[in-house]
Amino acid sequence: MPAPEFQHTVGKTASFSGTALHTGDKVTLKLQPAPVDHGIKFKRKDLQDEPTIDAKIENLKTVERATTIGEGSVRVHTVEHILSALSAMGVDNAIVEMDANEPPIGDGSAQPYVDLIKKAGVTAQDEPRKFFDVREPMHVEAKTGALLVLLPDDKFRISCTQAGPNNQFTQFLSMEVTPAVFEREIAPARTFVYYEDVTPLMEKNLIKGGSLENAIVVRGDAVLSKEPLRFGDEFVRHKILDIIGDLALVGRPIRGHVVAAKPGHAANAELARSIAREQTRRSSMAAPRTIPTGDGGLDTDEVMQILPHRYPFLMVDRIINFEGDNKITGVKSVTINEPFFQGHFPGHPVMPGVMQVEAMAQVASILLYKLTKTSSRVGYFMSADGVKFRKPVFPGDTIFIHAELTRARGNRMAKTKCYCVVNDAVVSEGELMFTFLDK
Ligand SMILES: [Zn+2]
Repeated sequence: MPAPEFQHTVGKTASFSGTALHTGDKVTLKLQPAPVDHGIKFKRKDLQDEPTIDAKIENLKTVERATTIGEGSVRVHTVEHILSALSAMGVDNAIVEMDANEPPIGDGSAQPYVDLIKKAGVTAQDEPRKFFDVREPMHVEAKTGALLVLLPDDKFRISCTQAGPNNQFTQFLSMEVTPAVFEREIAPARTFVYYEDVTPLMEKNLIKGGSLENAIVVRGDAVLSKEPLRFGDEFVRHKILDIIGDLALVGRPIRGHVVAAKPGHAANAELARSIAREQTRRSSMAAPRTIPTGDGGLDTDEVMQILPHRYPFLMVDRIINFEGDNKITGVKSVTINEPFFQGHFPGHPVMPGVMQVEAMAQVASILLYKLTKTSSRVGYFMSADGVKFRKPVFPGDTIFIHAELTRARGNRMAKTKCYCVVNDAVVSEGELMFTFLDK
């Protein structure tokens, strides 16, 4: 097992100043250390009472051109580049203090923020990092044609396809996002804009700080910028930069593979929202449930009087419910100590599907035992039909194993419909057949 990763903050306060993109005003940003589980918060030093805003997706206000977050009437604009740098460089906890409503735009890339983070230093704290582990594919699609798919992976990876109008400047890049890769390959990539999109904004004076110093302007086939392109595929790199920044609003690092086609702030934010929703669902599911004991069910001892199975092959901890004569529910808490996790798979523990079938068979046998009401015969698992594994089961999951008797022929054979449920979702199912034999 890899050593646990710890949360990190910055070692000391560091600051830098520059121009705000939208107002054109001068702004000073101070990056400050914060305690564990604090997350990233923006602080408006220029306002009365110096309000703070959590960099969380629930505070997202608008995604036009840039990502804006806010609480109450307080806003912070264009947070995606600094969030991208903090997230990719492994800073979990920090205060971003500013004396204006947006960070200095710098050169339109995340380079100034990486420099700032390195100036402040990154230090480990004494609490483990909390990740969002992708368990099953998720996806979002936007009217703009943006498509984002998130797949399980034990690393944070992004594979991105960027395409301009008429598929001009189509670029593809795939990478694992680590601090070193981010600093070298992604941080220097600058914002790019289309001439037709920015002219109306310039006319309305909405981007007073905007210039060729902090953006690449694409006009037709021409690429206008103060300095030459930093990478042949600088555009897709900046798209990846923005994805990292917008997904940072999830509030915890992601272990998963983002596959993005024509991404934009709106679609990125939508994916962040889905992830946050899934995270909330999981934490509420993790809350302890009341599992009844007593009359309704059987405790471990009673289960072991019926089943001959023993560690490590006893796959049911307790029977929590009998419904009539033909339904039963058992429960099994899956822990990392299950011996099968050592080899299935090293570094990525998933409960083998056959063990779930075994759990169904054991719970069903208990139902059959109750049915025959005789201790001289025992149901033997004979065959399984229509077995489906729908979702992976991980250490820490509690499996509710349901079995229903669908057919019984005298004292010779029985058919049961079984399914396993984790977090209110069916993870596996199948039809199990039993034959009765003398003990
Ligand atoms: Zn950007």
